[in-house]
Amino acid sequence: MTQLWDFSGGIHPAENKHQSTARPIRVAALPEHLILPLQQHIGEPATALVKVGDRVLKGEKVADVTNGLGVPVHAPTSGIIESIAQLPVPHPSGMTDWCITLRPDGEDQWVELQPFADYRSLERDQVLDMIRDAGIAGLGGAGFPTDIKLRPPRDRKVATLILNGAECEPYITADDMTMRERAEEVLAGFKVMAWLLRPERCVIGIEDNKPEAIAALRAATEGTQIELAVIPTKYPSGGEKQLIQILTGMEVPSGGIPADIGVMCQNIGTAVAMSQLIFEGKPLISRTITITGEAVREPGNFEALIGTPVQHLLEQASLQPDQVNRLVMGGPMMGYTLTTTAVPIVKTSNCVIAATASELPAPPPEQACIRCGMCAEACPMELLPQQLFWYSKATEFEKAEHLNLFDCIECGACSYVCPSSIPLVQYYRYAKGEIRVQRAEQLKADRARERFEARQERLEREQQEKELRRKERAKAAAEAQAKKKAEAEKAAAEGEAVDERSAKSALVQQALARKKAKTEAAATAKELAAAPAESAVEKPDLEALEKQLTQAQAKLETMQGMLEDAKAQQADNVDKLERAVAKNHDRVDRTQKALTEAREQLARNAETQTPD
Ligand code: SF4
Ligand code: SF4
Repeated sequence: MTQLWDFSGGIHPAENKHQSTARPIRVAALPEHLILPLQQHIGEPATALVKVGDRVLKGEKVADVTNGLGVPVHAPTSGIIESIAQLPVPHPSGMTDWCITLRPDGEDQWVELQPFADYRSLERDQVLDMIRDAGIAGLGGAGFPTDIKLRPPRDRKVATLILNGAECEPYITADDMTMRERAEEVLAGFKVMAWLLRPERCVIGIEDNKPEAIAALRAATEGTQIELAVIPTKYPSGGEKQLIQILTGMEVPSGGIPADIGVMCQNIGTAVAMSQLIFEGKPLISRTITITGEAVREPGNFEALIGTPVQHLLEQASLQPDQVNRLVMGGPMMGYTLTTTAVPIVKTSNCVIAATASELPAPPPEQACIRCGMCAEACPMELLPQQLFWYSKATEFEKAEHLNLFDCIECGACSYVCPSSIPLVQYYRYAKGEIRVQRAEQLKADRARERFEARQERLEREQQEKELRRKERAKAAAEAQAKKKAEAEKAAAEGEAVDERSAKSALVQQALARKKAKTEAAATAKELAAAPAESAVEKPDLEALEKQLTQAQAKLETMQGMLEDAKAQQADNVDKLERAVAKNHDRVDRTQKALTEAREQLARNAETQTPD
């Protein structure tokens, strides 16, 4: 006999479960369209892998999460992708979201299935990858991806694995009927989970208001080490934290998760999905859902394809449209009102209630709080609902958070007992939503600030690098200029030396020429003076003088050319060359004069030798 503990608070609302347990689970007929929201549970939305017009097979992956937390979506039957568009999805706000619409072709043709009955021969990581690939997320609660949940941190060993069969919320009987009819599958899936986690203890918790399911599970667990714990019926014993407390006596710390105390809870539907994957190779494409309420003539549970429109399921249960006063997705305690029957069921949908006006009447008007304290007595989380209400209503969210607002599981027990008909849970949801928005905005602002600061840093760094590069370029340019200047100076110095040498050489040549001309002129004059008689009769050497004149003129031209060159090359040599040119002018003049004198002498000589 399993030892049980109790949790604080709790209530005993009318169960209203018998209406939907009178019939066995029915397989819902194929609808005309299947609508597959890309986001069906907590985490990131999936990205479509198909396009309009594609034909897909049953079980084919049509969308997957490529970045972040999430699992893929599979085609529930074979058919044609008709659209990828924003459509109404099951959500308290009545919002729309991206959905793939599949038109079934009626052939229900499967992809090739790969069962892994011998899963124990595989690596655990391989099995976990298969679970993710099969799109399995928790079929109760927020739909947390099962593969992630089955990979607890290494430092948090799961000692106790619990299968949650409590199903405490009124009206909902999907798990009850599943346990009754598919107990072996439930056990098979639970064993796979146990193999993955290797806990010390495996226990199935089930409320004592489900005798048929208890009997079926008892038979299925016979001879195994799995405990079957039958717990008293009290709402919300199916809450994860409450069931853990009932079965282990331990409390999940505020803000913590079950893994913090070595416990993990899994859902009945999730266990069935695990079994179908491992032993049949099937991804998660359908689930059991309760369609109930006094506005349907044939309430019951349906095995329905994910994506089946609610309208189609209501018709399967013989909806009486004129009787419907309120449509609820989920149970009357934690569910929300549907604004349209066009929304599809998703992986986390467990119940639709088509309630008449007398069945779920509109709540009476909200009255002032009379501080009766009944809400606090009913709260299973030992919170202060009255104070949370005040702070939420006054938008003093910080104070509400301080009173552990986020520990509230939104079970609705406080609202249920409130004599003032205050919709307490709505206030808490509003406050949580606002806080989440504020956090998201704060996060966004922080990220924007971080991006701005990072940009500023980058710009400053780039500016510094640019300045550094500019300085390096300037330095290199200065060095290059200095080098060029040095080379130019060196070249100029070498050129000056060459010019100087050229000028000196020219001067030497000129001096030699002058000396030679002088010597020749002196010799000519000496010859003429020393032998007047003979000279008188000798003819002067005009030819030689003309030749000398020609040579002197040629040299003059050379000197003038050199002068021009020197002027162009170096101004310093101009004076020297000008002087050299002037000297050569003198020389030419002297030579010219000497030639003239010689000619005159020759003429005089000719006159004296001419006979009278
Ligand atoms: S139950 Fe309602 S009326 Fe009573 S204390 Fe709580 S909020 Fe106030
Ligand atoms: S809804 Fe929240 S505050 Fe109210 S009883 Fe449940 S846990 Fe407590």
